Amino acid sequence: MAAAVLIQNLQKRYGDVHAVKDISLQVEPGQIFGLLGPNGAGKTTTIRCLCTLTAPDAGKIEVSGISVLNNPRAARRRIGYVAQEVALDKVLTGQELLQLQADLYHIPKPVAKKRINKLLDILQLKEYAHKKTGIYSGGLRRRLDLAAGLLHQPDVLVLDEPTVGLDIESRFVVWELLQKLRDSGTTLLITSHYLEEIDALADQVAIIDKGLIIAEGTPSQ
Ligand code: ATP
Repeated sequence: MAAAVLIQNLQKRYGDVHAVKDISLQVEPGQIFGLLGPNGAGKTTTIRCLCTLTAPDAGKIEVSGISVLNNPRAARRRIGYVAQEVALDKVLTGQELLQLQADLYHIPKPVAKKRINKLLDILQLKEYAHKKTGIYSGGLRRRLDLAAGLLHQPDVLVLDEPTVGLDIESRFVVWELLQKLRDSGTTLLITSHYLEEIDALADQVAIIDKGLIIAEGTPSQ
């Protein structure tokens, strides 16, 4: 079986800044893989390359065996991306926002309706579905972002700092949801600079610093 994510010798510069010097990693299907590192280590750049949002200078990237660089359209269908900045349009309700996202992925209306209802249920968002997202708390917004990332049923969900800015209670709720997703077969690649987050969630962790992987193993290792 192909790796869920395969990154080999990835490099990316922004002018003088060598954001990613040489990164290789492999995420197995069904794993939560944690990418841990301080601010500016190159985590976001790595996952932006994976999600086709930034072109790397060198290296190979595959999602479920599909080359991200040669076949970005097919790769994008396999990836859900939950960015660091919450990307919600405040005037839409949660339900409307998910419908818009479904339309962007050309998901037929009846299929979208079923999936949206299921996700609202799983992510405990039903009672907020018809409220404008402008009034959502940080934790609710994160959950809606998760729903948006999952709507097209990706093989791999990529989350950049999924709980940054959340209080402890909301953080636990998101952790539980991520564990449930993993248990239902979704592969998760998570960046974080919280040690305890990676410790609680990840099956495998790579520590990244100054554009290089400096250690890799299970959290206990
Ligand atoms: P954080 O935890 O703060 O999000 P990070 O590990 O995700 O950090 P990156 O955002 O990948 O790190 O940044 C790596 C380096 O590349 C940093 O020095 C950053 O300033 C630089 N960088 C990132 N994006 C750009 C850009 N668009 N233009 C120029 N430099 C950039």
